[in-house]
Amino acid sequence: MKKLDFTNTQVASSQTARDINRGVVLNLIRRRQPISRADLARVSGLQRSTVSLITEQLIRERWVVRGHMGRLPRGRRPTFLRLNDQRAILAADLRPAQTTVGVADVNGRFLFQETMTTMSDPRAMAEGLAARMRHLMDSHSDLVFEGIGISLPGRFNEETQRVMFAPNLGWADFDFKGAIEQATGMRVELENAANACVLAEVWFGHAERVRDFVVVTVSEGIGTGIFANGQLARGRTGMAGEFGHVSFDPNGPTCACGGKGCWEIYASNRAALRYYNELSKTSRDLTFRDLLGLAEAGDVAALAALEKMVRALGRGIRMIIAGLAPEEIVIVGEITRLWRRFAPAIEAEVGTGFLVGRPPLVRPAEGSTARLRGTVALVLQKHFGPSARVLGERTHSIRRRRSAG
Ligand SMILES: [Zn+2]
Repeated sequence: MKKLDFTNTQVASSQTARDINRGVVLNLIRRRQPISRADLARVSGLQRSTVSLITEQLIRERWVVRGHMGRLPRGRRPTFLRLNDQRAILAADLRPAQTTVGVADVNGRFLFQETMTTMSDPRAMAEGLAARMRHLMDSHSDLVFEGIGISLPGRFNEETQRVMFAPNLGWADFDFKGAIEQATGMRVELENAANACVLAEVWFGHAERVRDFVVVTVSEGIGTGIFANGQLARGRTGMAGEFGHVSFDPNGPTCACGGKGCWEIYASNRAALRYYNELSKTSRDLTFRDLLGLAEAGDVAALAALEKMVRALGRGIRMIIAGLAPEEIVIVGEITRLWRRFAPAIEAEVGTGFLVGRPPLVRPAEGSTARLRGTVALVLQKHFGPSARVLGERTHSIRRRRSAG
């Protein structure tokens, strides 16, 4: 992935400056569409002629289309620009049992979604997923496909992009990205599911001014994505955020990672199912959805199992807050369906022994497609540059320095 270096913009090449300005204009159109060229110049601070050059290029490249004509009391009628929603992205969210596949436009709207069974053999899964995607491209022949974004509960080697750590999928050292690229002929962006949710918040969420937040994905395991100082934290090995595998009890049950008593052993969907069977003294093969249904119907054991799970969730979140002091914690997962019922238990755990001031806001993610939408952002950021928010701020400083020099 090409990275723009914003730390020393005064020596940035003119090509980099053009890339940055293009990203700024594209992102402004994305966020404020429909928008006129005059407004683009005013909001970005770029010269009118620069804006015209960039927008003409974007129209030629079919990223942007001319929308309806505006109407002013007198004089010229400005043309409004918007993103071309015929440009599409293929998105996939892999989970241990089920994979969701979708087609989204550049605005992150899903035109189509379906699910398929996740196969335990990564090679077979890559073949099955690629076949599904080729079919989707054929059946949406009116769209221009830009690329493929995939999120999965795992980690990759930053250089080789091979999947290195995916305990809940049971995959190790496999070139999933390469296999899909070869079978589809499309460029593939892979991301850890929790990090993809961070991107979804940054690109499509409403928390525009929040520079420090943590996404906690609650599913078969627990993942966290850290947005700190306005950037996604990756750490030296790309493994930042594995709080789910911090041991809470060295004598606890064995985790898929090989450790004992990891946080996710107590706070994941699988934990709640285990609690339910213990409490109801049964060994029913329920899905987490079934358990939520039972709880909604007032099943006492189901409610108690979920209460135990969210208490453990809250205790882990307390550790994250103590370590990172985020403004917000965003929860992604089926458990948010019963948010009203369980938020008080989570908040009670989070607030216990809080160090100074008030604990941060803990809230559910907007909508149910955070993981999938994140994969759309993955593909878009190749063209639009990093998140609009971060880019906008930095560019502002480039402009100031330029005009000063
Ligand atoms: Zn573990």
